Amino acid sequence: MNPHEKFMKMAIQLSEQNVLNNTDAPFGAVIVKDGKMIAKSANKVTSTNDPTAHAEVSAIRIACKKLKTYDLNGCVIYTSCEPCPMCLSAVYWARIDTIYYANTKHDAENVGFSDKFIYDELDKPMDQRSLPIKQMMRDKALQAFKLWQKKVLPIAY
Ligand SMILES: [Zn+2]
Repeated sequence: MNPHEKFMKMAIQLSEQNVLNNTDAPFGAVIVKDGKMIAKSANKVTSTNDPTAHAEVSAIRIACKKLKTYDLNGCVIYTSCEPCPMCLSAVYWARIDTIYYANTKHDAENVGFSDKFIYDELDKPMDQRSLPIKQMMRDKALQAFKLWQKKVLPIAY
């Protein structure tokens, strides 16, 4: 079995175990660096009451803690399903090199996990989205940015 298949099989097993054990939704993710598994997680949304605890986000949290960094450059992620917008964004923020996925978002939609709504929302102008988003107190909030700019050695982010 080639390494890609080995790690994807782990992600898929996590997704299956979540269902077989009545633990949570059928999603799993594995993060790999230099051919070694760094982190793995299944979806933990309902089991931990955390709407952000998708498999990919959970695996990123574990990997960053283990490697003591917020930058997963050099890592790849294997996920049992095409990432939702939140997880896709988290993968970008984590600077992971490559995403490998198995099920498509359409496969997920067929069994009741649709993120199409969010993708559609992102395509709309802000004032046409179903979630109200209103700007306020910018002048006050800008102060933190001004302080940040004045720092001699800002944290590389
Ligand atoms: Zn997700």
